[in-house]
Amino acid sequence: MPEQVIKRKSRGFVCINAHPEGCRRNVARQIADITSHLPGKREGVRNALVIGASTGYGLASRIAAAWGFGARTLGIFFERPPEGVKTATAGYYNSVAFHEAAKRDSLFAASLNTDAFADAAKTQAAEIIRAQMAPVDLVIYSLASPRRVHPRTGQIFNSVLKPVGRPFSNKTIDLDAGKVTEITLQPATDQEVADTVAVMGGEDWEMWMDALLEAGLLAQGARTLAYSYIGPEVTWPIYRDGTIGQAKEDLDAAARRINAELSQKLGGSARVSVNKAVVTQASSAIPVVPLYLSVLPPALRARGLDEGPIEQMRRLFFDHLAAGSKSQLDAAERIRLDDRELREDVQAEIKRVWPLVTTENLHETTAYAEFQREFRSLFGFEIEGVDYEAPVETEIFL
Ligand code: NAD
Repeated sequence: MPEQVIKRKSRGFVCINAHPEGCRRNVARQIADITSHLPGKREGVRNALVIGASTGYGLASRIAAAWGFGARTLGIFFERPPEGVKTATAGYYNSVAFHEAAKRDSLFAASLNTDAFADAAKTQAAEIIRAQMAPVDLVIYSLASPRRVHPRTGQIFNSVLKPVGRPFSNKTIDLDAGKVTEITLQPATDQEVADTVAVMGGEDWEMWMDALLEAGLLAQGARTLAYSYIGPEVTWPIYRDGTIGQAKEDLDAAARRINAELSQKLGGSARVSVNKAVVTQASSAIPVVPLYLSVLPPALRARGLDEGPIEQMRRLFFDHLAAGSKSQLDAAERIRLDDRELREDVQAEIKRVWPLVTTENLHETTAYAEFQREFRSLFGFEIEGVDYEAPVETEIFL
């Protein structure tokens, strides 16, 4: 395939193509963040499996494990490769860039572009760990998916982002029109709640851990983490108390069960890490959240507290997972990386701004332009230093 000039294509707000050079720079920037903040002792993770490793928190985790500790990593993700003139998805290009950089820096990396919910993914991952790695000492579960085909029954579950019990009305940004609107979301049915739990709850995480344990592919002291979100009251009806929140409760319950098993059999542990809200493909799809993500960064930045996925994962890996670190847990035994987001002064500022925001003053009262730019940058667009007029090779493969 000859090189081609890639301009951003969108359907409404969502980008439907990706820029390989922009994605490469995103990965390089995250690697540079980690290598410029290395801890004194780079020990604690040797062989890591990251499920959901191509974008967002999973990609940042994989980078922190590899460049922070020199870990060998196996990444699992579900991304579209390039095909003719059609570009790959951003997560695919991110993963190509991850492999290129890992090779350059003599770090072992293997990836499986496959449906993590399927039994075949677990079997293939086990084969790679057995043949090319050593039993894993860290498993990161960072899937965000709208859909799951159940491996045993073949049943298809679709997750929904809805309130539970009663309707919820609030301000949001209509991303397609760039307008501040009031939306009312009707509550989910019981079936929708159950389906969302089936997709985003803990069952698949447990299936992964059972498969690895049974195959003898978890190291002594192995640890596993899955990611969750709590957020401030303004998002509770749609997040913490909504369908996704029910799924996250199920994840908490799975963590307790996996933790009991790992601690008994291997002296290991399973934890949920509650991370801060960041702009990712998954979070931008949640109603109300884009407006929240347009007011949160200025409130944090004014206090020198803003973090993106890589800064959060740097904190997780260096402060909580590094050898000798003492991880502080909350009352529910979760790791909390959302402490800065939930600080009283930060949330007071958001509460002050929230009622003032209108379509007319959106750009003066919020950092919406920055949110838009950040969202586009997830696809490799609007990245400083990239020449978007220059043709690039889009048919690059893992
Ligand atoms: P993301 O959309 O950036 O990444 C999702 C990952 O899952 C990608 O690597 C994708 O390829 C992979 N994936 C999706 N379906 C798959 C499948 N069937 N098989 C294999 N891989 C699949 O998402 P994110 O925002 O980084 O979210 C990751 C986790 O972090 C989620 O559990 C989310 O709830 C949690 N979290 C996110 C935020 C936030 O603000 N983004 C905050 C706190 C916690």
